[in-house]
Amino acid sequence: MTCREFADFIADYVSHELPAPARDAFDRHLGLCPNCQRYLASYTETVKLGKAAFDDENAAVPATVPEELVRAILDARSRS
Ligand SMILES: [Zn+2]
Repeated sequence: MTCREFADFIADYVSHELPAPARDAFDRHLGLCPNCQRYLASYTETVKLGKAAFDDENAAVPATVPEELVRAILDARSRS
């Protein structure tokens, strides 16, 4: 498990769609990697903000949300 893989599959991890062995690898990496801990925290926060924003179709995405996270959310939504 690398940080890159972690980032690629974080949407599935957060939505509990990862198979158990992959989830274990995520949990192990997360236990060792402060960068990914921070990334996961900001990702889940962004998902929350994103859901709140999408409840109101006219609401703007908060300016503090990193562009790449917005793209990840939109990508996750289009796949589900
Ligand atoms: Zn990492």
